[in-house]
Amino acid sequence: APGLYLVATPIGNARDITLRALDLLASADLLAAEDTRSLRRLMEIHGIAPAGRRVIAYHDHNGARMRPQILQALAEGQSVVYASEAGTPMISDPGFDLARAVTEAGFPVTSAPGPSAVVAALTLAGLPTDRFHFAGFLPNAQGARRKALEGLRELDATLVLYESPRRVAALLTDASEILGPRPAALCRELTKKFEETRRMALPELAASCESDPPKGEIVVLIGKSDSEKIKESDVEQAVKTALDRMSV
Ligand code: SAM
Repeated sequence: APGLYLVATPIGNARDITLRALDLLASADLLAAEDTRSLRRLMEIHGIAPAGRRVIAYHDHNGARMRPQILQALAEGQSVVYASEAGTPMISDPGFDLARAVTEAGFPVTSAPGPSAVVAALTLAGLPTDRFHFAGFLPNAQGARRKALEGLRELDATLVLYESPRRVAALLTDASEILGPRPAALCRELTKKFEETRRMALPELAASCESDPPKGEIVVLIGKSDSEKIKESDVEQAVKTALDRMSV
């Protein structure tokens, strides 16, 4: 059927693809991908040939130029697949502007759901999953990153972050200073050969990343603060209130 299909692709293991995603890759009139090479490779692994169909690149840098082409294909009644390089489109990946433009133009948008590192990591971290806050990649600059962490301090949910191996030790050091000794986890290389999960309190996790730097793709998860413990801000407030009373 005509319309845009947002297709999730594996985050490592090529067999983590749904049967429906394979059907769509085999049948769509137009194939749009964040990275055309990885889409072609994935299709080849699963024995699907583009066979004369157009495979076009769509990412943040060419989106404005490519959206009219995709809208044109939809106007001609074609079915269009959009796939990220890995995982679910729009989850720290392009696709949002495309889906919005297609919706605004009145064409159907459908999801073919599948893997995403945020959900896979939540299942392994050993932290509460009933409520979580996905904040993607925090800013690279330390000042902005620390400010972002301060804004997340009172969060009543498990915090899930993506980070590059180059910056993960710095992120965890800032996080343990700002958020304190909360329970945390680091999942790396999910579904791949060197998959590993480290579960420990934030300061220990920061130290472990200093002494044994994790390589590959990484998700960091931080548990919410223990509400039983008295918060520093509460103590400050109580002291201030007491002092105010004494001065009158
Ligand atoms: N769209 C993807 C998704 O649905 O998870 C995320 C794309 S984002 C550009 C890439 C980041 O996702 C990586 O830097 C890492 O933080 C995380 N990630 C992706 N695949 C992963 C894996 N196999 N193991 C751990 N983290 C992964």
